[in-house]
Amino acid sequence: MRRGIWRRRHRPLRSAVLAGGVALTAAFAAAMSAAATAASAAPSVSAAAPSASAPSVSAASGRAERTHEVEYFTGPGAHPRHTEVPAATPARLTRGDRALSAAETAADGDVGSVIENGPTADKVDVVFVGDGYTAAQQDDFHADVRSKWAQISAVEPYAAYRNLFNVWSVDAVSNQSGVSGDPSKGVVKDTALDSYFWCDGTERLLCVDTGKVASYAAKAPEADLVVVLSNSAKYGGAGYAISSGAGYDGIATASSDHPDSDQVAVHETGHSLGGLADEYVYAPNGTYTGAEPEESNATKLSAAQLTAEKRKWYRWIGQTSPDGGTVGAYEGSRYYPKGLNRPTENSIMRTLGRKYSLPGREAMIAGFYRHASVLSSRTRTSAPVARAASLKVSVSKAASLKWYVDGAEVTAARGKKTVTPASLGVPSDGRHHTVMAKAVDTTRAVKDPALRKLLTDSRTWKIPATS
Ligand SMILES: [Zn+2]
Repeated sequence: MRRGIWRRRHRPLRSAVLAGGVALTAAFAAAMSAAATAASAAPSVSAAAPSASAPSVSAASGRAERTHEVEYFTGPGAHPRHTEVPAATPARLTRGDRALSAAETAADGDVGSVIENGPTADKVDVVFVGDGYTAAQQDDFHADVRSKWAQISAVEPYAAYRNLFNVWSVDAVSNQSGVSGDPSKGVVKDTALDSYFWCDGTERLLCVDTGKVASYAAKAPEADLVVVLSNSAKYGGAGYAISSGAGYDGIATASSDHPDSDQVAVHETGHSLGGLADEYVYAPNGTYTGAEPEESNATKLSAAQLTAEKRKWYRWIGQTSPDGGTVGAYEGSRYYPKGLNRPTENSIMRTLGRKYSLPGREAMIAGFYRHASVLSSRTRTSAPVARAASLKVSVSKAASLKWYVDGAEVTAARGKKTVTPASLGVPSDGRHHTVMAKAVDTTRAVKDPALRKLLTDSRTWKIPATS
């Protein structure tokens, strides 16, 4: 990570949760009805609710109960839903906690590099934390991280940008194998992160103690994305709307051994990395009457208006999208069936298992580059480099690479990943010189000039007079 935190901006109306058919506690229902009243009195205020920062305190509960908003999924191919859950796991599921042995304690919190493509400052750092793995099962966890990342990174535009990512594993040693609520609701497992199915009464909602996750994630050198992998073959997951303050934005949970549970994490990164809105709707929300949404994939405008006013995804309108059909302005988005439009009929921001639309793909690539750099080098620019020293860089797949000596391009060196100042023609003339490498990602998947600025980077090294 090198740039600022990219906050998710969406936050659904609380009344939307009712439409999801979620069982509610009395306290939460009271809060909801208050919110619904407020919404009907001033819909624009509700619709423009502030970005989620958590944990929040539920005033209606009568005691300080820390909660998080989560998005969850009832099955592969399903539309996601939202609800609010406790930040800590209910006490009935955490009983029986046994202190770890000395050997287990020694292994707890170990950090491993699963995939390393460059310095953390130049890459998106994905941190996996395991739950429900005993000390003897940590190798299983590492294998599960590899296969889960392979699934996530098979989705475009991840696939085209794999070398922008580092992947880390953080070992959390559990007393028991597996997680609570698997296979059935009554099953209780003593695990490091207290993850559990049947959260909030929903079987597929896989919750976790977010405070414990944060303490493990902090052990990794850098976290831009955090994924909790719970040791289970049961379908489930969740996306937590959390601004951690530690560089990552949101936590995704996924079961380790269900083939479709990776899609939850992919959808969540649409929010956290891409800044994208959900494109599904809750029928009772009716017609949106608020301000134009901030997110790049939701608008009050028609396709003709987008084009005329050069707004949002107008550059893509009429083009064939990877998720099917052509880009336009399709009615229904961001929880409202009317009054808001989405770019395509059915992208991953609407239904799990789908692909990103063309505008969604553009937002994701820009999101990658907010955390990572198109050009990376382990040779620091803060110290002088000798004429004979090796300069190595790596660049994104679709990037052009040029070298410059004192500002003039050395065309013969185009595309070379390893050079020396001497090989570039830096003379030994008793004077200072500079060598610059410049890379530009030439992908056609990003059209917006403001975003294309993220797709270029350079490094400049000083060559001292005495070398
Ligand atoms: Zn979502």
